[in-house]
Amino acid sequence: MEIINRRQRMTSVARKIRREQDKTIGLVPTMGALHEGHLSLVREARRMCDVVVVSVFVNPTQFGPGEDFEHYPRDLTKDTALLTDYNVDYIFAPTVEEIYPRGFSTYVNVEGLSEQLEGASRPGHFRGVATVVTILLNTVRPDFAFFGQKDAQQALVIRRLVRDLAFDAEIVILPIVREDSGLAISSRNLYLTNDEQQSAAVIHRALIKAKNAFKEGERSAGRLADLIRTTVEAEPRARLDYVAITDTETLEKVDRIEEKPTLIAVAAYIGKTRLIDNTILNKVKKKDGAAPQ
Ligand code: AMP
Repeated sequence: MEIINRRQRMTSVARKIRREQDKTIGLVPTMGALHEGHLSLVREARRMCDVVVVSVFVNPTQFGPGEDFEHYPRDLTKDTALLTDYNVDYIFAPTVEEIYPRGFSTYVNVEGLSEQLEGASRPGHFRGVATVVTILLNTVRPDFAFFGQKDAQQALVIRRLVRDLAFDAEIVILPIVREDSGLAISSRNLYLTNDEQQSAAVIHRALIKAKNAFKEGERSAGRLADLIRTTVEAEPRARLDYVAITDTETLEKVDRIEEKPTLIAVAAYIGKTRLIDNTILNKVKKKDGAAPQ
């Protein structure tokens, strides 16, 4: 395994793999502090591709003022050890200056999908995401790039970005990996105290309650949202930021849930830590055995 810090080196290594070795490349973009969620993407990349590149880059442009960019957990030594065990070929770990050199002034904005939900709570977030993913896709030129359903809106934004700007990469979205408690695994869970970890499981519990109510016949999005709100707010350490019930493709608000796949997305503070989670109602079952969430 090689750790690459320079964009130019990454470009030329990837070019060689494509041209001279005629191998497929899988890219797994991450911000590091790797956990089982990331590793599920790495495992699938390893299964599907000849060469696996994992990028580790805490992307400043997707953090807003007052967010946790400075304090975001970073541990490249530990990440490297994990990725060595997973037989990854390259870690691309550039500095901020390498990705955003002096005079950088080009940003990518996926209009329409970027302004609601996470975009409303975190203005500019998806502009940062779309910009860095564009740079990563252009640097590595992967055949496949792997992302998690944990960040449902991000997955949509990236799919749209790749379609609209005609990137020659297939986007693979993989299911949410959870703790035994149901808590969606996240690098930000490291901010939680033990008590908060336990409280944080309320987010998933609320989603499951809504899912069960739907199974029992509830079709009103408003009532399902209320159920989530009251469940989360019954936990003293939790404060709901938003619950949104939308079409899974357009993110348009849904009032009555009929046959179409419908996203329930939640963001909540547990103490000072902001966490997100989601589930899909009327999920279209995949034939390849992808796990339901
Ligand atoms: P991050 O390092 O948080 O930017 O995440 C990198 C990638 O891992 C993104 O595509 C995330 O959606 C994905 N990811 C993070 N947590 C999970 C999880 N619990 N299950 C599945 N994928 C995840």
